[in-house]
Amino acid sequence: MNSPPPRPRAALAGIPAYVAGRPPTGRDGVPTYKLSSNENPFPPPPEVVRAVEAAAASMNRYPDMGNVLLYESVAARLEVPVDALAASTGSVAVLYHLVQAFCEPGDEVVHAWRSFEAYPIAASVCGAVSVQVPLTADARHDLDAMAAAVTDRTRVVLVCTPNNPTGPAIGHEALRAFLQSVPPDVVVVVDEAYGEFVRGEDPLRALELRREHANVVVLRTFAKAYGLAGLRAGYLVAHPTVAAAVRACSLPFGVSAVAQAAAVAVLGCEGQLLERVEAIVAERERVAAALRGDGWDVPDAQGNFVWLPLGDDTARFAAAAEAAGMAVRPYAGDGVRVTVGEPPANDVFLETAREFITRDHGPD
Ligand SMILES: *Cc1c(COP(=O)(O)O)cnc(C)c1O
Repeated sequence: MNSPPPRPRAALAGIPAYVAGRPPTGRDGVPTYKLSSNENPFPPPPEVVRAVEAAAASMNRYPDMGNVLLYESVAARLEVPVDALAASTGSVAVLYHLVQAFCEPGDEVVHAWRSFEAYPIAASVCGAVSVQVPLTADARHDLDAMAAAVTDRTRVVLVCTPNNPTGPAIGHEALRAFLQSVPPDVVVVVDEAYGEFVRGEDPLRALELRREHANVVVLRTFAKAYGLAGLRAGYLVAHPTVAAAVRACSLPFGVSAVAQAAAVAVLGCEGQLLERVEAIVAERERVAAALRGDGWDVPDAQGNFVWLPLGDDTARFAAAAEAAGMAVRPYAGDGVRVTVGEPPANDVFLETAREFITRDHGPD
């Protein structure tokens, strides 16, 4: 035991840790709410639970490695060919596989910052360099600056719309123009994890852009609108050559049998789930309007969350939320992301935010 352990790749030393949203601290008599991970507050419909139970009965067997039923269901739903799909254990895993498939060591992955915290990790894990382009003052992607950041080392551009954690979405024409300025050999990933929640002007039709550009990849998840965060299933839609490369990097049997069954089942009751999305969107509008009315500078909120740009007050706000029974997601020194939850949770959040801005943070 006197020789040091084997040394991992140098790139791993600099990898930022993924900070998961914390559960709330339980306290006697105070209801608690988890608003820290952008989860869907609705429990799964009974038919989805039944599909999962049926699949669980065969857990002694490996899942279908080819994800056949899942791919057929998604392909039929989106009207895309089956060979344009690649699925894995959540869309974050799909993203890792994609970076692995396209980046040599030292190649660059361009993305906005602040954006989804998995992006710099995915780049570093795969030996690529994360090139971070600051958001605009209103918390949007600066698409001109992102296009300018593309070099001959750039292999992948990640576009997060709506942007996690700040909220704004990119319009169809804006993304279309951006694609004109990116070389066709650079993969452009459009991460639509919250796409179902967008209600803004000129909503993105990412699948249409994928048909127009062989380098466009549409990344989707069952975790948010479809409420399957705990089961891990996500996929991409891409040119068949791109999708095949991503499948080649995927772990065998990545999507479990229960996750495959659940994903097929949620597509089977999509209408009901999209009604729930509508309810969450209505709550989001209520929450954002109330916050703005109280003086908060909330960027355009197009996901199932709102962003409070608290700067140095971030930790204090998170503590105030904790004391009120809520877990939120603080980003040190920058701001707090709060998931739109069930109405009573949103009420507690609004009350806490109002108290905070009037007492602690308000105009002097
Ligand atoms: C939640 C989220 C995902 C989805 O991740 P899964 O691995 O599918 O759970 C992807 N992208 C962004 C930006 C997200 O916020």
